[in-house]
Amino acid sequence: MSLLNASAAALKRGLASSAPRTYNRGLKVLAVLYKGGEAAKQEPRLLGTIENQLGIRSWLESQGHEFIVTDDKEGPNSVFQQHLKDAEILITTPFHPGYLTRDLVEKAKNLKLCVTAGVGSDHIDLNAAVEKKIQVLEVTGSNVVSVAEHVVMDILLLVRNFVPAHEQITRGDWQVSDVARNAYDLEGKVVGTIGAGRIGYRVLERLVPFNTKELLYYDYNPLPAEAEAKVGARRVEDLKEFVSQCDVVTVNAPLHEGTRNLINADLLQHFKKGAWLVNTARGAICNAEDVAAAVKSGQLNGYAGDVWNVQPAPKEHPWRYMQNPLGGGNGMTPHYSGTTLDAQARYAAGTRQIIENYLQGKPQEPANVIVGVGKYETKAYGQR
Ligand code: NAD
Repeated sequence: MSLLNASAAALKRGLASSAPRTYNRGLKVLAVLYKGGEAAKQEPRLLGTIENQLGIRSWLESQGHEFIVTDDKEGPNSVFQQHLKDAEILITTPFHPGYLTRDLVEKAKNLKLCVTAGVGSDHIDLNAAVEKKIQVLEVTGSNVVSVAEHVVMDILLLVRNFVPAHEQITRGDWQVSDVARNAYDLEGKVVGTIGAGRIGYRVLERLVPFNTKELLYYDYNPLPAEAEAKVGARRVEDLKEFVSQCDVVTVNAPLHEGTRNLINADLLQHFKKGAWLVNTARGAICNAEDVAAAVKSGQLNGYAGDVWNVQPAPKEHPWRYMQNPLGGGNGMTPHYSGTTLDAQARYAAGTRQIIENYLQGKPQEPANVIVGVGKYETKAYGQR
């Protein structure tokens, strides 16, 4: 397909920004990344940091573009908000999110393309992006294996009561019964995922060899019959019924209007007493206070994940300190499951490819397009 035809086809699908650009120098590209400090100086593969800049600075500058990189993202005087006013391309990551609110979308008069270096674009007001015809793309699939592996780890560390057992060792203690009293096998348990997309399905695949009693999923997009059969998963259409059947619930859906605060005190009452909950999707899908109270009371035997409703999480966040009545049940970490060095290589390369396509007027990979020109292209951010 010629470049012209490719662009015409993409335009028809609403995916590309415009016909091939004849003028593509001198754009302002703004990136909000996290500060890597000494670690990033010592480890150049930490590509998602302000120090290593996704490895794209020299490439962008060699083409005459301006590249502003910052971790300073809060408030009207932040570098993010100052440069947003005339940036054409904004790169953000879910790990240190530059929150592109409706208000900021209004002020970003020149903005045409938002690229999420990673997966999950809820930090952008997607409805506002649709209205303002700002495209939002992510590097779909770039870290789904990384997260699925983390989910399996979190499930195991909760069910097997790993964290208090390890802490006992580093404290210099040895009291097997203190930790064995709340340790179980995953075999024979019912595990369910809210969201059975790329990550949720990979979690199900990875759980097959554990001989669980049953694998369940809750998703308004049903899996193809062959995919269900391959992992032996059963779909449950009612959420309360779904959680009431699970020993372990894992959340693998994007954050949108339909999932914000989905797991709250009301729904938690329908969980099996002593169930485990793992959430590596987005913190705000779970109500922070309600989850902490459920862990404290023993309604949940534990909660693990790496995503928080505010990032970085404040020191006083209840998820840092919550424990079940037996002194365990907390498997929280900072947001890093999707930013392994392997994942960073993939999302850095994917970010460059998306920008290259944009600059050259080439069609984008359809799976990467969350918001195309003036409309949602994904079915994963709620039923519309
Ligand atoms: P995906 O689009 O492949 O799958 C998401 C699935 O969730 C879809 O099948 C969709 O239908 C389903 N879904 C949406 N709303 C739902 C609802 N209300 N109830 C039930 N199911 C619902 O996305 P993915 O690649 O699997 O990623 C899922 C999410 O995981 C991302 O949006 C992101 O928020 C999060 N994530 C976290 C990390 C991390 O580092 N912790 C990394 C990558 C992705």
